Amino acid sequence: MIDLKSMTLEEMTSALRELGEPAFRGKQVFTWLHKGAASFDEMTNLSKALREKLKKNFFITVPKVARKQVSQLDGTIKYLWELRDGNCIETVLMQYHHGNTVCISSQVGCRMGCAFCASTIAGRVRDLTPAEMLDQVLFTQVDSGLPVSNIVLMGIGEPMDNLNTVLRFLELVNHPDGMNIGMRHISLSTCGVIPGIDRLADLGLQLTLSVSLHAPDSQTRSKIMPVNRAYDVEDLFEACHRYFRKTGRRISFEYSMIDGVNDQDWQADLIARKLKGMPGHVNLIPLNDVVESPYKPSRRIAAFQKRLESHGITATVRRSLGGDIDASCGQLRRKAMEEQQKGERPS
Ligand code: SAH
Repeated sequence: MIDLKSMTLEEMTSALRELGEPAFRGKQVFTWLHKGAASFDEMTNLSKALREKLKKNFFITVPKVARKQVSQLDGTIKYLWELRDGNCIETVLMQYHHGNTVCISSQVGCRMGCAFCASTIAGRVRDLTPAEMLDQVLFTQVDSGLPVSNIVLMGIGEPMDNLNTVLRFLELVNHPDGMNIGMRHISLSTCGVIPGIDRLADLGLQLTLSVSLHAPDSQTRSKIMPVNRAYDVEDLFEACHRYFRKTGRRISFEYSMIDGVNDQDWQADLIARKLKGMPGHVNLIPLNDVVESPYKPSRRIAAFQKRLESHGITATVRRSLGGDIDASCGQLRRKAMEEQQKGERPS
């Protein structure tokens, strides 16, 4: 059986042609799938015989809502989806003035090992497929009834660790016969996998690249982000400059503020020095307290912001949404996993 929704329009068209169908059938099926059709029987403009033929050759992914939490504070919705193989992933829908933004996962778990992050605690189970990434946007929209206008790849997983799939997902979600979400409305966040950054620079996509910096000095960064031992922050800054020179696009740097670790003035000064010649934007994120992590939220966010601004760096503090619903990455999935384990163990 073949995963039909992971196919591009061209692939779908030729797959249907091989079944003896005319070219326009590919587009019909593509449109149905990208509207959220959950079965072939919903595709009423296809003959019964063709629907049967499709059922024999292909499957359609349809994630199940395993849990759904709605914030009473700001309407943020968090979904825990159950995939075909029983694995679970998270998606968050945030309502901003500029439109509804969906934060999607790219992998089941993550192997990057950032010390403060809940998504990586149990490692990576597997990569998501293009259809499973698209489904998060599609079925969040279908289930919530809220139109999605922006996508951020900032959920569970490291997009650069599954880049071929991510690129295919971008092609699908951007397609005029599908959801038609423009690249300028999409952000991709990486912990700093340099070959991926260079590959994106070569492609020159109009998306926004976010880099999870979290420390401008090697020593601190290696302590909290193991990826820094493979791709040192000095080289990462160089890759960011290369990216800017090639694409002309401003990079957004994420910086989760950790008490006494990365919140010192000298670190703000170092960021400013390293970003010289590039219009960077630093997004300061109040650290979400993860029970398993020894790190605590910084109390110096405003001071750090001021220090960056004194060097002419644009720095914003991320507004925290969904504070009442485990909305930060990986927390709901972990909770569900723990409860499952407890349930399985005889007491
Ligand atoms: N793997 C990608 C995208 C997923 S994480 C990346 O690393 O960029 C999205 C952002 O949330 C990253 O900047 C990540 O470092 C940050 N993050 C993870 N856990 C956090 C926590 N407990 N508090 C604040 N930010 C966190």
